[in-house]
Amino acid sequence: DQQGTEQIISKTEQYGAKNYLPLPIVISEAEGVWVKDPEGKRYMDMLSAYSAVNQGHRHPKIIEALTKQAGRVTLTSRAFHNDQLAPFYEKVSQLTEKDMILPMNTGAEAVETAIKSARRWAYDVKGVAENQAEIIACEGNFHGRTMSAVSLSSEAEYKRGFGPMLPGIKLVPYGDIKALKEAITENTAAFLFEPIQGEAGINIPPEGFLKEVRELCSNENVLMIADEIQAGLGRSGKRFACDWDNVVPDMYILGKALGGGVFPISCVAANKDVLGVFNPGSHGSTFGGNPLGCAVSVASLEVMEEEKLVERSLELGDYFQKELKSINNPKIKEVRGRGLFIGVEMTEAARPYCEQLKEKGLLCKETHDTVIRFAPPLIIDKKDLDWAIEQIKDVLSV
Ligand code: PLP
Repeated sequence: DQQGTEQIISKTEQYGAKNYLPLPIVISEAEGVWVKDPEGKRYMDMLSAYSAVNQGHRHPKIIEALTKQAGRVTLTSRAFHNDQLAPFYEKVSQLTEKDMILPMNTGAEAVETAIKSARRWAYDVKGVAENQAEIIACEGNFHGRTMSAVSLSSEAEYKRGFGPMLPGIKLVPYGDIKALKEAITENTAAFLFEPIQGEAGINIPPEGFLKEVRELCSNENVLMIADEIQAGLGRSGKRFACDWDNVVPDMYILGKALGGGVFPISCVAANKDVLGVFNPGSHGSTFGGNPLGCAVSVASLEVMEEEKLVERSLELGDYFQKELKSINNPKIKEVRGRGLFIGVEMTEAARPYCEQLKEKGLLCKETHDTVIRFAPPLIIDKKDLDWAIEQIKDVLSV
């Protein structure tokens, strides 16, 4: 029963809750940086499922790991051990240089895990009085859609109608070290931040900010927690976006590309003094640490290393940004980014540009109204990137 784009969209709209407003395109096949609609029209994916598909769609090595593991065992729950969890732990521990890992499934769940561990660390290790722990986050942040994550948000639309919000949260302007310093009290458990704010429009912290945060958090006995769910794993042209400032946070939160765009898997990584606060019964997830996700994740991280996706992102990202900066159009306010994590801020709505780019065969999504985000899979080659640049120049040049 083959259906066309229009039928599929109309049926989707008929039944689905309206919490998304997708571009009117149906993706029914994908490989590498390319996707196809049911009519066979080909598009380049310039969003990479919000950086979950850094390794490209259906990377053969990742699919092989998936199918091989699917033929053995897919789910045990954590009531029993499985033989894929230790290799996953080992891989993530090597990558993060942290000695404990806690696996979950989605980004928001990993953020929840980070908040729970920070709070418990505050009580059990730091000695904060019961129920007084505070988390400081940044204005403009995006940490997901669960109640804790939206409680952290400064975006009215993310919160409207969902109250009451989680207490014990303070917000400071992104990149403002003075405000952070003033917000810290004896009850502060953690400072949670994105080393590059993705959903806010690819906002890069001011030079030296992360170093100052590191110093302040160490001096004040506050956990420094980096949400690297979108910016990490090569997207910014470094292993982690914190590496841009040579800074090591107390905890990394990882997701998205950790599962190679194939299977949802997320985790937090920290040392024993922090993640050691969990004991049996204190936290968990039925699917967290499942063998299928673990096998997929190990393959996804191997692809990142073997195909030098970090280096590729840095090199091609520099080139891409230069080309974008050469476009002459007074309506382009700023081109900013790191690696293949690039935002083009317009002086007007970005969505019509995304719609025109779609007509040219390029799939991008606006973020925060005026920013066009360009984030292709990191496996993209120069030839395909040049093709994309040509289409972008056609649409954006005046
Ligand atoms: N944190 C950051 C920085 C993100 O970009 C996202 C998703 O866009 C999340 C958390 C939430 O991840 P998920 O959608 O997998 O829950």
